[in-house]
Amino acid sequence: MNKLKEISLIDLEDIKLFINGKWVTASSNSHFTLNNPSTGEVVTEVPRGGREEAKQAIEAANEAFPAWSKLTAYERADYLLKLRDLMLEHDKELASIMSFEMGKAYTEAVGEVSYAASFLTWYAEEGKRLYGETIPGSASNKRLFVVKQPVGVVAAITPWNFPLAMMTRKLGPAMAAGCTSVVKPASQSPLSALAFAKLVEMAGIPAGVVNIVAGATREISDEIFENPIVKKVSFTGSTEVGRKLVEQSAAQLKKLSLELGGHAPFIIFEDADLELAAEGALASKFRNAGQTCVCANRIYVHETVIDEFSEIFRSKVKELKVGNSLDESVQVGPVVNEEGLNKVEQHVEDAVQKGAKVLHGGSRVEGDGFFYQPTVLSNVTDDMLIMEEETFGPVAPLTAFSDVDEVICKANDTEYGLAAYIYTQDISLSVKVAEAVDFGVIGLNDAMPGVAQAPFGGNKHSGYGREGGKEGIKEYLNVKYISLGL
Ligand code: NAP
Repeated sequence: MNKLKEISLIDLEDIKLFINGKWVTASSNSHFTLNNPSTGEVVTEVPRGGREEAKQAIEAANEAFPAWSKLTAYERADYLLKLRDLMLEHDKELASIMSFEMGKAYTEAVGEVSYAASFLTWYAEEGKRLYGETIPGSASNKRLFVVKQPVGVVAAITPWNFPLAMMTRKLGPAMAAGCTSVVKPASQSPLSALAFAKLVEMAGIPAGVVNIVAGATREISDEIFENPIVKKVSFTGSTEVGRKLVEQSAAQLKKLSLELGGHAPFIIFEDADLELAAEGALASKFRNAGQTCVCANRIYVHETVIDEFSEIFRSKVKELKVGNSLDESVQVGPVVNEEGLNKVEQHVEDAVQKGAKVLHGGSRVEGDGFFYQPTVLSNVTDDMLIMEEETFGPVAPLTAFSDVDEVICKANDTEYGLAAYIYTQDISLSVKVAEAVDFGVIGLNDAMPGVAQAPFGGNKHSGYGREGGKEGIKEYLNVKYISLGL
C-alpha cells in the first residue's frame, strides 16, 4: 500500500532500538520478524533486544533521572507539549505504522494517535499541580510538611492492542512527575513505540529520559524486575501475565500497577433507546476488531426488547466493512494473528454447539490475513466459553434477562471487573445498577467512557492502580513527610 512508502519516522529496512538517545542494534545480533495481520506478509525485522539492552536502557534512565527530575514542572510540560504537537503533526504516519503492524483499521488508528496525544496534553498541565501539604503540628515548635517526589526510573510493559495510547497513558504522567523510563513494547507492535521514540528525539527530550527496548520478552522483563534501579513497573496486558509479574515484583517489593483483562457486560433495559444502545454496542464490540479490554463481551438485553434490539443491531453489523486495515474505508480489520483467529473460532464453535444461533457472520474470511466476519450470536447461555473468557475478536453474544437483580448478579459473575455498560432512560435504575456492578469504569448510555482526565482501571482480576486523571500520576510519586523542629 502507498501509505507504507510515506513512512519516514522509521526505516523499515533497518529498524533499531532506542537507548540513551541513540539508535542501536541488539548485542546478540539476532532479530525477530513482524507480520502484517491483513496480509500475513513479513513487514520487517526488529532487533531482538535482551538482558544487556534492558540493562543499558535502565542505566541510561538512571543517569538521566537527576537532571530530568530537577527541571521545573513547567519545563517538563514544554517538552511534553512539543512531543504532543509532533504526534499530531505525524498522526497519519503513526496511524499507518500502527495499522500495518497490528491490524487496527486506519481511521481508528488516526483516532488512537489523538487519544494517545491527549495524555501528554493533560499530564503536561497536571504536573504543575502536584501540590504538597502543611499539617498542623502537635507541638508549637514543629512544622509538618508533605511533599511529592518522583519515584525514579520506571518501566512500562505495554500490549499490542493500543500500541501508542497505552504507552502515553504511562509515559505522560511518568515524565510529568519527573521520572525517566524504559518501555518494553509488545512484540507485535514495536514499530509504533520506535516511531514515537523518533518524535522524542525530535522534541529534544534529553537522552535517557525515554528508552525503548523490544525483543526477548522474558529476558527484558527479568532485568526490569531484578535490577534495583527500577523503582516502579506499570504493566498493561493479560491477567495471566499480570499474575506472574506480581510474583516477580515480590523479591524487591517493586511498586507495580496492573491494567489487565476485562469481560464487560453491556446491559440494555426495556426502556433504553434501542437505536443508541445498538450504536453503542456496535462501537464497543467491533472497535479494533473486538480486541479491546473494555469491549462489550456479554450483551444482556431485556426479554421484552431483545427481538427488536437484535434486528436493529444485526442490520448495523451487516453494514460493517471488513478488509485490509490500511484501506481508509475499512471499519473492521483483521485480528492480530493466527492464534487470535483460532480463539475466536473456538468460542463461536463452542457457542453454536451448545445452542447459540448465528444471526450474522459466524466464520473466518477465506484468503490472506487473519480475518473473522463480524458476528452476532443469539440464545447465548452462561455455560458457553464466550461468556466466561475474553474472546478478543469481532463476535457479539446476545442473551435475554428478565429481572434487574438477576442481570446485576450475572454481570458480576466473572473474575474480571474492568468496564460495564448500562443503557436505560430511568435515572434511578441507572444509579442503582451502576452502584451495584463491581467494575472500575461504567458507561451509562455511553459506550466510550475513556478520556485522559478520568481515572481508568479495574477491580478484581482486572488489576490495580489507575491510569488517567489525577489518580494516574500518583502511581509515579512518593509521598514524603517532613517534620521540622524549630
Ligand atoms: P500480554 O500477552 O499479557 O502481553 C502484554 C505485554 O506483556 C507485552 O509487552 C508482552 O510482550 C509482555 N509479556 C508477555 N509475557 C510476559 C512475561 N512472562 N513477563 C513479562 N512480560 C510479558 O497481553 P497482550 O496480548 O499484548 O494484550 C492483550 C491483553 O491486554 C488483554 O487481556 C487485554 O484485555 C489487556 N489489556 C488491558 C488494558 C487495560 O487498560 N486494562 C488495555 C489494553 C489491553 P510480548 O508481546 O513480547 O509477548
